[in-house]
Amino acid sequence: MLSLIPQKLPLVFAPTPLHPLETLSRETGCSIWIKRDDLTGPGLFGGNKMRKLEYLLAQAKKEGATHVLTYGASQSNHAMETAAACRRFGLEPVLFLLALVAPDAQEKKGNLKLNGLLGAEVHLLKAEDFQGRTSQEALQEEANRRMAQIKAEGGHCFEIPMGGSNALGTLGYLDAYMEMKEQCRRLGIAPFDAIYASTGSGGTWAGLLAGQACLGGREEIRGVSAGLAGETYVGQVTRLANEALVLRNLKPTLKEENLLLDQDYVGEGYEIPSAASTAALQRMARREGIFLDPVYTAKAFAALLDHIEKGDIKAGSSILFWHTGGISALFAESTIVGQLD
Ligand SMILES: *Cc1c(COP(=O)(O)O)cnc(C)c1O
Repeated sequence: MLSLIPQKLPLVFAPTPLHPLETLSRETGCSIWIKRDDLTGPGLFGGNKMRKLEYLLAQAKKEGATHVLTYGASQSNHAMETAAACRRFGLEPVLFLLALVAPDAQEKKGNLKLNGLLGAEVHLLKAEDFQGRTSQEALQEEANRRMAQIKAEGGHCFEIPMGGSNALGTLGYLDAYMEMKEQCRRLGIAPFDAIYASTGSGGTWAGLLAGQACLGGREEIRGVSAGLAGETYVGQVTRLANEALVLRNLKPTLKEENLLLDQDYVGEGYEIPSAASTAALQRMARREGIFLDPVYTAKAFAALLDHIEKGDIKAGSSILFWHTGGISALFAESTIVGQLD
């Protein structure tokens, strides 16, 4: 028996633009294109999480949710995008955030400032709040307490995992891959040799892989890690991609050994800029007038540039750089942003 295909709410300005990076293509001898998911909307600071939220919030609405609770680092783009998307559909956003980098004591920065503007309920956990628990345990226990409270008050809280990366959210990037292929068809662009995308909680990369599996595409889809990934990471991403295929009544055909994870551009760690990521951010701005973010896209673009430089990507190749957003982090704490000028 076929199950119903999940529905989504309209949140994304789709299709997002797909265009060549002419100056960088000339400089590098490769044909570099960009997919502008920094422009997904609904506000100035779009980003990849909006595509997942179209499915996730449709489910929340279907279940009659009053509140939506999610998790992230203090400068989480996902948390801010969730809060913005909730406002569009009359839902109360509740954010449980982990202060990996100490928030600016004087002034809320970046996404913390936007969360305040959106009137989101923000719970910011610092190391002293853990009390012998791991950060994840502390976050989950505090969130569970808040969810029980909302329930006791007669509300219904819809919980979204970190990064919106469950099978349902992943469908947003299965659709995004299809959207890109349709644009290429209409514009007469030959299939790309490779696609580069930043990967964190994994849903974006998993969705692109799932979309490719649906259509039988041949591009190398490289996931460039924004933080050091554990040993089980590629297995988890494979599982997510396969679960998304099953939600679409398709066969789960992805195999872990076919995934191309690149961890060489993490630098010292998540939310810590590297010389290469800062240089990549500057180069995109100074050659194309396009802003990347310091935490995710700058590291993914650093990988792409370095792979061309080292000859891992052959001269004349066509490459799609998938811009996943995160621009609001350019206004985060200076330890996250780095020295840009
Ligand atoms: C969350 C995020 C990513 C990573 O996407 P995942 O689906 O979590 O892997 C990449 N870029 C930006 C700007 C993000 O906010």
